[in-house]
Amino acid sequence: MNKNLNNKSLLVIFSGPSGVGKDTLLKEMKSLDPDLVVSISATTRRPRSGESHGVDYFFLTHKEFIKAINGDKFIEYVSYCGNLYGTPKKMIENFLDLGKIVILKIDVQGGLEIKKKMPESLSIFVAPPSSEILSRRLYNRDFENNKQTKKRLVRSEFEIKHSNMYNHKVINDDVKKCSKRILEIIYNHKESQ
Ligand code: 5GP
Repeated sequence: MNKNLNNKSLLVIFSGPSGVGKDTLLKEMKSLDPDLVVSISATTRRPRSGESHGVDYFFLTHKEFIKAINGDKFIEYVSYCGNLYGTPKKMIENFLDLGKIVILKIDVQGGLEIKKKMPESLSIFVAPPSSEILSRRLYNRDFENNKQTKKRLVRSEFEIKHSNMYNHKVINDDVKKCSKRILEIIYNHKESQ
């Protein structure tokens, strides 16, 4: 991988429907380039098994989240399938000041909002190989919660419809290939900055 990059910071908006494999891709990308920073959002959603506070998300109560909104702590926040999600402002600003590549794993609504505020950011959309595969992945992940899965599938149609507003679209048909492709896109963009 090409790590001979300038030290200018870069904000990467990383979106894709729920279940497309964004976390797995990010994990693979981090293993290839440990310098990447993946932002940790705040959410009112309950932790899934294996998730922990401060690692996967900052898990907040509704009251704590509203307090953070009122304290202007988020660059953006959305209501997504019944829960609130927000990108912490301070953390992002600090890493950008250090000249880092900062990846925001956020939904399309938040992604487009950030793109408007920060047009110099790079936006990448991850699409599934097919809607059948996405649906299968989502049901397998959350098999006890059909209602939530259905909501997420409906939302995925909206997200895929807006994918052409992103700078790049990649298909996650193979984690290793796809994560390398995303890193290439990021490095090429950085070199051209
Ligand atoms: P999940 O509940 O599956 O972890 O996340 C649901 C959706 O919320 C995903 O598309 C994820 O990328 C998005 N998301 C996570 N954090 C944020 C955030 O801070 N802001 C926005 N707009 N979306 C987020």
